[in-house]
Amino acid sequence: DAHTAEGPAAAKHLEAGRTLAERLDRGPGPSSAQKRKRNLFGCCPMERYCCRYLKVTDVCGQSWCELQVLYGFKYPQVAKREEERTEVKAGASIHLARELEVHEVVQVCVVTREDHQAIKFLNLLGMISALQAGCCVRELPVFGVLEGVFMVGIIDELRYTDKGELLLNELKTRRHNSLPSKAQIKGHCLQVGLYKLLFDGMVKGSLTGDQVVQHLGLSLEQALGTGVLEHAMSLGFQVVTFGEVLDLLLLNLKYCELPCIDLLRLEYYHQGSGNVIGSQDVPFDEDQLRAKLQDYLSFWLGQREPRGVDIEDAWKCRMCSYVEYCRWRRETLHDNATIHTDKKLK
Ligand code: SF4
Repeated sequence: DAHTAEGPAAAKHLEAGRTLAERLDRGPGPSSAQKRKRNLFGCCPMERYCCRYLKVTDVCGQSWCELQVLYGFKYPQVAKREEERTEVKAGASIHLARELEVHEVVQVCVVTREDHQAIKFLNLLGMISALQAGCCVRELPVFGVLEGVFMVGIIDELRYTDKGELLLNELKTRRHNSLPSKAQIKGHCLQVGLYKLLFDGMVKGSLTGDQVVQHLGLSLEQALGTGVLEHAMSLGFQVVTFGEVLDLLLLNLKYCELPCIDLLRLEYYHQGSGNVIGSQDVPFDEDQLRAKLQDYLSFWLGQREPRGVDIEDAWKCRMCSYVEYCRWRRETLHDNATIHTDKKLK
């Protein structure tokens, strides 16, 4: 029960999240979709950009610049160009190579969104077993409701230390052979903290079927495609519908007896040489983390305006792809130029 695991404060927000998810429900037929489109103006950002859930990385991006995250949704063509940068692609292929060191890749034909999600759940079931056997797992999906909003993420690596503690290791690849700035590390610390909250919630059994179905917009009755059925059978699971896979996952999470994450670590790799640049252990303070998260989510829930960078962090704008669209930069630079001119006239 999410109410029990996340405390009374979170339960209050959960209701808000449910209402939001209901409001986002597309309903049948094109007419309701058209109506929804017409009503988007003036909605909160989650509704405006049709987000049933948020990615952990979106929220962490807010610690760098909230407007930049918003522009990523508003100008998807620019965001796509960002993803195609050589540095980003090189990082993705290093992650894939590391994942293949511990996982076998099997091709499965998927037809529906439920098929796609069922494969993720089957993978997760395999990872639960691997962790129970004391093995290392990589690219582990995590999801759940935090402060009333459904969030999803992917943990790079989970493994046990020599002392038997469960360690979350987040790999970051870098073009430059140096550690990132404090401002970047801040976002990375937030990221691993949120992963821990999500993972711990899952293994404590706080995730519910309603949350998954409602926020991901999936049908429990949807029959699984042949490819998924065959794959599930090869793993020893007798399932027919998406709802059955979800039940299987929730049951396994509830009784898996996996520990919560004990340690959080960031590890920085140089893309060119593949050498480790350095690593850093991250402290975990749940109250602080939840307070920060509530602040970031208040923007998504339409409770406040988005923020640009602090004026002393304006150097971040030099490497921003949205600089030509940026309202903060236009207004702030104009205001500063006016102040500067006024001072000169005096
Ligand atoms: Fe943020 Fe600066 Fe980019 Fe504007 S130009 S979105 S303030 S980083």
